[in-house]
Amino acid sequence: MRVAILREEAGLEPRVAASADTVKRYVGLGAAVFVASGAGLASGIGDSDYEGAGATVVADNEAAVAGADIVLAVRRPAAAALKGANKGALVIAIADPFGHEAALEEIAGTGASLFAMELMPRITRAQVMDVLSSQANLAGYRAVIDASSEFGRAFPMMMTAAGTVPAARVFVMGAGVAGLQAIATARRLGAVVSATDVRPAAKEQVESLGGKFIAVEDEEFKQAETSGGYAKAMSAEYQQKQAALTASHIAKQDIVITTALIPGRPAPKLVSGDMVASMKPGSVLIDLAVERGGNVEGAVPGEVATTANGVKIVGHLNVPGRLAATASQLYAKNLYAFVETLIDKTSKSLAVKWDDELVKATLLTRDGAVVHPGFAPAAPAAEVPAAAAASAEAPSSAA
Ligand code: NAD
Repeated sequence: MRVAILREEAGLEPRVAASADTVKRYVGLGAAVFVASGAGLASGIGDSDYEGAGATVVADNEAAVAGADIVLAVRRPAAAALKGANKGALVIAIADPFGHEAALEEIAGTGASLFAMELMPRITRAQVMDVLSSQANLAGYRAVIDASSEFGRAFPMMMTAAGTVPAARVFVMGAGVAGLQAIATARRLGAVVSATDVRPAAKEQVESLGGKFIAVEDEEFKQAETSGGYAKAMSAEYQQKQAALTASHIAKQDIVITTALIPGRPAPKLVSGDMVASMKPGSVLIDLAVERGGNVEGAVPGEVATTANGVKIVGHLNVPGRLAATASQLYAKNLYAFVETLIDKTSKSLAVKWDDELVKATLLTRDGAVVHPGFAPAAPAAEVPAAAAASAEAPSSAA
């Protein structure tokens, strides 16, 4: 059983699909692990670390993939990169399938079975494999760190001989996995934190982290959570009420961090140009939804924009990749937990249970065809399962 660890495209993706720890575990499962040289460097893992864990380091991806039964990557590899893998090899990555049907067809053409980690159902058994959570949690943390480095003031209140420094005011919009970690991080830095969400369940979570919850709590709010725990798209009327409530609040904030997403839709626009203009010079907005269309008017993907009134709007891409070592460590563990379920530990060979719930939810291609009901040619849109819709238009980095 050969496992290949790919080197991601330089400049695009600093994360890597295996850590020294998971390499050791794959070897323990009876696998021979081949790592493309330099694969872990941007995540602080050297070739010798992989070798020390029992892997063989080879010159490049081509050499790693040769004869592979399992190919592990962060981003979906190009079909051409899979040439040389064994027939029916399992390719596991954040596959970003939405809108990339042609690429899926090409991968199907290689005969590989491609799995999308971000389509993993959010059930208890699969929590350890949940890449959306492991990466969003880090993005939430990093958003606060990025905000603090763009902000020209301190976060905590300081009483010094030279005068008192007020605590920074941080407002988090969207209190899911990323938002809750942003709240916790900003609190640890001593900020005065408030947050909003459209799901009633978020209220208690925000308050338990010491944040003040601000939301229009009407009848629509009470129904805003889907059975899967995600937000519904809100009516135009609700959005107007929400905007009226948040507008005066935003004017008083130093930092606004937005994380709001709705499965299968572009990110809701929550902060208008007028709201940005109402903020004090030196204030900072971090838009974590920028790759899905953005929550903040004026956010530019990949840029830090400064408005005429001196407010910075930060639109970093691949925010988990800005914390590559930690993101890779957790992603690698998510992958390992899934791969472990695809292997028979006694015979030390691949034993995919094709009717397993986790396999069915994540498998995109098999035996030359795109097989996922959400992406197979001519599949009606209504058949896209909730977990698939949840990552619709999701950039790899969101995961
Ligand atoms: P997400 O990334 O889809 O969205 C981020 C947040 O934006 C959500 O909290 C959503 O309610 C909020 N939002 C959407 N529209 C908004 C608007 N107009 N205004 C303000 N906020 C808005 O969500 P997520 O971070 O993936 O988490 C969704 C839920 O799933 C959370 O309750 C989370 O705790 C839960 N979850 C469960 C599991 C599990 O059971 N295994 C795993 C991960 C997350």
